[in-house]
Amino acid sequence: RITVVGSINMDVSARTPSLPAPGETVAGTDLVLGRGGKGANQAVAAARAGGRVRFVGAVGDDAFAPDLRASLRTEGVDVATLRTAPGASGVAVVTVDDAAENTIVVVAGANDALTELGADDVAAIEGADVLLLQLEIPVPTVVAAAEAARRGGTTVFLNPSPVRPVPDALLDAVDVLVVNESEHHALGDAVDRTPHVVTTLGARGARHRGPDGAVVEVPAPRVRAVDTTGAGDAFTGALAVAWRDGPEAALRRAVVGGALATTRSGIAAPTAADIDAAAGELA
Ligand code: ADP
Repeated sequence: RITVVGSINMDVSARTPSLPAPGETVAGTDLVLGRGGKGANQAVAAARAGGRVRFVGAVGDDAFAPDLRASLRTEGVDVATLRTAPGASGVAVVTVDDAAENTIVVVAGANDALTELGADDVAAIEGADVLLLQLEIPVPTVVAAAEAARRGGTTVFLNPSPVRPVPDALLDAVDVLVVNESEHHALGDAVDRTPHVVTTLGARGARHRGPDGAVVEVPAPRVRAVDTTGAGDAFTGALAVAWRDGPEAALRRAVVGGALATTRSGIAAPTAADIDAAAGELA
């Protein structure tokens, strides 16, 4: 069982030949709605990778909310602890031009309303094997979730993204820190507070440093990458599901999950069957 406490967003992306300058109106050629937010993406990735997943988070009371809720439910994620907050859902407004240059405005919306955990949320955390956390909701809530997990004997994973200051109290409650190279760099020596550190290395794979200081590096399978969006989330979801098999086995599975996500455009976490098939082929 995996519980995610985190963000859920609607990504509204418009394509234009060139990005509008201040005061300018340009014609868009395409509009795409994408379901996102690091919390929701990792929840879906873990569910597809074979986990039983519950999501603790908030959507607004706007037109996007029913769609966001349904997008998790369709993936088999338990949304009993997904609450409705007054106001807007989390939204990212994206423009992309023909040179693939983009602008992004993120409105945290309901994600910022997740300021307290209720009894049901705490029960979902304590009853899980793994708690998956990111930093797209208020940090005090992330700390409270990690501390509840500690009390319940639940293994705490933190993907400290987007990069922002992480209180020591949070790092001290984390069992497994999952960082890419820039997040690793931003945290500096603070990563040494955490028993397990998993660093993703893009096309080079991933590295694990355990409580005894031993380091294992697992190469990524070679794939034809077309879009690396969501590779980190697919990696983290697969890692959380496989963690019970031990860090090295979990990394071997997660690098396949991450690599497969890059072979499809958009956010496209693979299923357990996809990972099984690819692991056999690529071994
Ligand atoms: P993020 O996308 O969060 O910055 P990375 O770029 O390190 O993180 O990618 C996360 C994981 O996705 C990697 O550890 C690897 O398993 C997989 N991955 C990413 N890019 C590639 C690639 N070009 N080829 C194969 N695997 C990749």
